[in-house]
Amino acid sequence: MVKLDSVSGECEQRGDSFALLVAEAAACNLCPQMCERRAVLSEHNGQLSARVLFIGEAPGRQGGDRTRVPFSGDQSGRNFTRFLDSINLTRDRVFITNAVLCNPRKPSGANRKPTTQEVLNCSAYLRRQIELIDAAVVVTLGAVSLDALKSIEYHSLSLKVAVGQVHKWNGRLLVPLYHPSPQVLASHRREAEQLRDYKAIARALRSSGWAMREGSADREVRHLKERFRR
Ligand code: URA
Repeated sequence: MVKLDSVSGECEQRGDSFALLVAEAAACNLCPQMCERRAVLSEHNGQLSARVLFIGEAPGRQGGDRTRVPFSGDQSGRNFTRFLDSINLTRDRVFITNAVLCNPRKPSGANRKPTTQEVLNCSAYLRRQIELIDAAVVVTLGAVSLDALKSIEYHSLSLKVAVGQVHKWNGRLLVPLYHPSPQVLASHRREAEQLRDYKAIARALRSSGWAMREGSADREVRHLKERFRR
């Protein structure tokens, strides 16, 4: 039997902490080159009670920076959604964020990789998201996000070696994956390999005791949480 009071109390507290985090990230001006960009962090990033937390690199100009939803509106987002589908995961059951919450651009306006300093500047926000979502499984998408975890709790994993395996990190399971961008798919990790790598998420979820298809008890708790969040 689900205890309504404790579920609603916990949801309320988590919702309040998240609202504070969103407001702080929106007001952040630690990175001089990104002060005009807005942090892509809101309820559109996903489910606060998600069992899987995905961490990308930084919002893309055509993607998250425009749509306000990480990994949507560009080819990286379409690839990512296809990979999620392949293991029967949907966006409404996960939380998606980035190592850097704002969109880094070159003077020409094109996307660029975030600098080490920008990743460090954003690491307190990332740490707070990891603690707040408290997902059993953390999935990094690319080397930037895998490396970003080092300042939160050190690990010595390299993407080349650790990709597609389930590792223990920070009291959770960590699955390092390649980034779903078209460039990475064309040159570093092709579609078939990525589809194989994504199966590691399903393995990690199973070993954390979660059924890939939502059971009726999960559904009941989710509906209650959604009801009490309003
Ligand atoms: N979109 C994101 O949100 N993150 C990335 O790393 C790339 C595209």
